[in-house]
Amino acid sequence: MKKELTDFERGIIEERKTEAPFTGEYVNNHRDGTYYCRKCGAPLYRSADKFDSACGWPSFDDEIEGAVARKPDADGVRVEIVCTACGAHLGHVFNGEGYTLKNIRHCVNSASIDFEREKSGEGVPESGVLANAIFAGGCFWGVEHLMRKVKGVVSVTSGYTGGQLRNPSYQQVKSGQTGHVEAVWIVYDPSEVEYRTLLRHFFEIHDFTQTDGQGPDIGSQYLSKVFWAGEEQRVVAEQTIAELEAMGYKVATELRPAVRFWRAEEYHQKYFIKKGQDETECHFHKPINW
Ligand SMILES: [Zn+2]
Repeated sequence: MKKELTDFERGIIEERKTEAPFTGEYVNNHRDGTYYCRKCGAPLYRSADKFDSACGWPSFDDEIEGAVARKPDADGVRVEIVCTACGAHLGHVFNGEGYTLKNIRHCVNSASIDFEREKSGEGVPESGVLANAIFAGGCFWGVEHLMRKVKGVVSVTSGYTGGQLRNPSYQQVKSGQTGHVEAVWIVYDPSEVEYRTLLRHFFEIHDFTQTDGQGPDIGSQYLSKVFWAGEEQRVVAEQTIAELEAMGYKVATELRPAVRFWRAEEYHQKYFIKKGQDETECHFHKPINW
């Protein structure tokens, strides 16, 4: 099962680089099967132990016994994980973050692993590969609620991104001192909706010309930002902003590469749905004549 690695894979597996968050092919893979070492083919993880951490990389709370070795990372802080059989760099392992009952997160690069579906799953049609989009447009309650309405959107998660602080709380982000913005992580089916369509909808539900926040919410945590995952999204985002500028809008939205995303506290998720109300108080859909 040994195979040639691409330069990109070699960079991750042998030079311990990290792939950009939300760009790997297995971030949203929910199918049943086994994950193997891309370098030597040793089985490493089972799909039953994979969970959605929202961080942007495949996450597992357990490994196949003996398959994964731990080493102190060169940064002196983190714990690196490697394939026991061949030493391939997989990522890092974190304890005590509280995502699952086992309280462990193996944060693994998609480029370090290969996936094979379970035999019993054969004959079941392949579900489409899902994609990610991350937008910040002020209060995430409203952005989440309105992005959910787009056909082809599979899930929307409210959270924090763009800053340095690990695992920030709402109170910390609200201080405006962490560098994070309130943002949403959208998982969508690219066979049903294009990134461009999502992006246009995002621009139609918030005031992208406001430079100091969104509506009455003033502060760096409410700024308008698009976090692109991969070059393709970056190009589409630049084109979309150029279109708006050609229409005479002064666009305040910043374009940034996607970075680690932190899921917000549970009470922020599906906020308006839980309140049983369909109208948001902060965001409204105003169509643009594209
Ligand atoms: Zn290996």
